[in-house]
Amino acid sequence: MSGHDSTRSMRAAITGMGLAVALALGGCSGPAEPGSQRSAPGGGTWAGQGPGSSQGTEQGPSPEERHQAGIDAATTAAAQYDYTAALKELKPLAGQHVDDLTQKITAQQKKAVTWKDNSQISHLFFHSLIVDPKRAFDPGPSAQGYADYMVTVKEFKAILASVYKKGYVLVNPHDIARKNAQGDMEYRPIKLPKGKKPLVLSEDDVSYYEYMKGDGFAANLTVDGAGKVTNTYKDPHGKTVRGAYDMPTIVDDFVEEHPGFSYRGSKGIIALTGYNGVLGYRTSDIEYGDDKHIDLPAQKQQAKKVAAALKDEGWVFASHTWGHANMTSSSLDRIKRDTRKWDDEVRPLIGDTDLLIFPFGADLAGIERYSGSKYRLMKKDGFDFYFGIDTSTPAWMQLTDDYLRQARINVDGLSMKAAMEGKHHVLEKFFDVEKVIDPARKKYLK
Ligand SMILES: [Zn+2]
Repeated sequence: MSGHDSTRSMRAAITGMGLAVALALGGCSGPAEPGSQRSAPGGGTWAGQGPGSSQGTEQGPSPEERHQAGIDAATTAAAQYDYTAALKELKPLAGQHVDDLTQKITAQQKKAVTWKDNSQISHLFFHSLIVDPKRAFDPGPSAQGYADYMVTVKEFKAILASVYKKGYVLVNPHDIARKNAQGDMEYRPIKLPKGKKPLVLSEDDVSYYEYMKGDGFAANLTVDGAGKVTNTYKDPHGKTVRGAYDMPTIVDDFVEEHPGFSYRGSKGIIALTGYNGVLGYRTSDIEYGDDKHIDLPAQKQQAKKVAAALKDEGWVFASHTWGHANMTSSSLDRIKRDTRKWDDEVRPLIGDTDLLIFPFGADLAGIERYSGSKYRLMKKDGFDFYFGIDTSTPAWMQLTDDYLRQARINVDGLSMKAAMEGKHHVLEKFFDVEKVIDPARKKYLK
């Protein structure tokens, strides 16, 4: 697989810039109201129905509200191609409208086709998005790294609109394959309307690393009063605001507007290291255990809450190793130590995961099947899905009884610049680079 070095100097950017600043972000995050629930596609929950939602003497939803909630859940489920769940929602309901809707969804179900070949599913990945290109690209120690490895919010939104328009639908790795009753990995059927194409999205290093502070990125992911995942961001005037300032929140908003962009609620993968904490919270005991400015239990609690809310929204988590380790060149001993740290410090915050996204795309093997002690260690640690980098082809997949490996395409300044110079054409399937490029990036395109 080629392209392994495309994020090679990221480590330098990360380690070279450790600001000795204690980030006291704990106070920035608003508490979520207990009992607030959004409608879950196919899940049949809606505000007012969940446990803990009874307020004072207020009674539960009226029969009309219950009926409407069922219709809404069925509509969303069908829009996200889960026809079985949609029909199940409608089953207990009565009325002409219900009959019409049932007929419509049954027809859609009959017309849906199974995706022809799960080995032909593309995967695009990003890093944290640049909200303020002026600050990110201002001459400074990180500017070139940001230009090379990141895209701006403006670029990301244009890319998202383009892939949606081209018929791509977001799936998660577990939609693609899972273990069967014998414990062997196998492809799962993905049923979509004709012309729709599955796509995996991932975002690496969603830590809001210390070195990024003040450079025009979001500061964290948090949960607002209504239970919705949002970002904290300090605007150029130093004012702290909340909103969609990174991939997960921007995708959430986009899917809310275009439910058909998500297959059965799936959104994408968030890949986490551990050395600067996760999701903008400084949760690492190893790194911050001695830091009196950081309330570790509070940071961990906050991170857990955000992780749970992200999972509710259809995001899944991957290990990106604790220390952004190069799995190709690191010794088995180093990988063992790193894996222990990730298991101790990150797994408890996000829950279990069987996904591993290689830092730098540095894989355990070439295109041959995995074997050897590093692989056995990772497999023993619970990883069944592995993700490298390959920009030479729109899709590359390897399925064995034991694992699924998928190549990812980096969407960043380097890959967009190379595309503009005609060095590869892989991005053309997804968007027109010339059209999405942020004018703020111009000086880095020479
Ligand atoms: Zn990384």
